[in-house]
Amino acid sequence: MSTFKAPKGTYDLLPPDSAVYLAVREAIAAPARAAGYGYVETPGFENVELFARGVGESTDIVTKEMYAFETKGGDKLALRPEGTASVLRAALEGNLHKSGNLPVKLWYSGSYYRYERPQKGRYRHFSQVGAEAIGMEDPALDAELIILADQAYRSLGLRKFRILLNSLGDAECRPVYRDALQGFLRGLDLDEETRRRIEINPLRVLDDKRPEVQKQLTGAPVLRDYLCDACKAYHEEVRALLTAAGVVYEDDERLVRGLDYYTRTTFEFVHDGLGSQSAVGGGGRYDGLSEMIGGPALPSVGWALGVDRTVLALEAEGVALDLPAATSVYAVPLGEEARRTLFGLVTELRRAGVAADFAYGARGLKGAMKSAHRSGARYALVAGERDLADGVVQLKDMESGEQQAVALAEVVDRLRTAR
Ligand code: ATP
Ligand code: MG
Repeated sequence: MSTFKAPKGTYDLLPPDSAVYLAVREAIAAPARAAGYGYVETPGFENVELFARGVGESTDIVTKEMYAFETKGGDKLALRPEGTASVLRAALEGNLHKSGNLPVKLWYSGSYYRYERPQKGRYRHFSQVGAEAIGMEDPALDAELIILADQAYRSLGLRKFRILLNSLGDAECRPVYRDALQGFLRGLDLDEETRRRIEINPLRVLDDKRPEVQKQLTGAPVLRDYLCDACKAYHEEVRALLTAAGVVYEDDERLVRGLDYYTRTTFEFVHDGLGSQSAVGGGGRYDGLSEMIGGPALPSVGWALGVDRTVLALEAEGVALDLPAATSVYAVPLGEEARRTLFGLVTELRRAGVAADFAYGARGLKGAMKSAHRSGARYALVAGERDLADGVVQLKDMESGEQQAVALAEVVDRLRTAR
């Protein structure tokens, strides 16, 4: 071990487990890609104001969790704590919304940073795959995104997740609800900080995870009773489309999310095997965000799914992904001349698209065969001086143990078709 360790709240992805993370990222992205979402990549840091305005001054993310810093040049930046504000900023900057082809559908995958109290499923560096549909108000888009996330989790073999669904109303009806909620909350026994929150963003109080707060919230006014007709109709349509698609969800009138920009449709995917860090992903509609960051009105909807917690959910359900072996063929040379010949063969195999590896260093047959087994390769290619003199290599099937001599000139063709 070196003198250094990964910083608190972070961990490294190392083989063989790292292959699971890659597969999870791929599985989450695949349904979105197949639904017309294009890949977007933005910087790991942004102007700190983007998040302050976009995510919201009163959120935990901005007040407590952001890695904000000043550069030597005096720029005030922050490591990105989430993806939506950056992706919208990039779409606006790139004028994608002016192409006349709305909605702009984008997906992304990357690292996010929040200064949180580290615990299982909660890290300071974590990874999300997200999808955003920008510039269109259509309940079918909200439904599409939820269906795609459902499809992603199902394709991984996850079953014990639930979809929580709510509507947060819009600029017309939410203020009325906000007033009613504030009136209720001001009468409760809460600490100073929470009382401050009541005045800035009372909906956030509903998301307080402390039991002593939750207990007092019974009887709080619920947004559903305050939704305007347009929001009600919109929400009913989203629900109907989900039901028609066979996607099961639960109405959760208490669901609010940790970001200020959500309007109307809000949802969360929770997994029941994860204990207190149960949210594996979440999202919703953010019709006001573009204007909040200085853009035109662009009603939008999106989600971000947590890769780390999805991997934990797979473990909790005991799902083992069917990952193909990284190496199909492992070459074991016996002697100097065989090294040159087999190394050449390995290069040819790789160029032919067959995943191949080689026993490097001067190792005995036994040690090299051990590595061949460890690699997960289906075949081993073994050759010594006598084989080469005969113009053959020994092809060993690692599953059956069978071995046969194959002419050097035919090896690549044989293995190209073998898998
Ligand atoms: P939580 O309520 O658990 O803090 P959140 O509402 O802050 O979650 P979002 O900002 O909506 O989460 O991010 C979407 C997803 O990203 C979460 O559902 C979760 O899977 C993942 N995520 C968020 N924060 C972390 C973290 N600190 N460590 C690991 N994964 C995280
Ligand atoms: Mg959080």
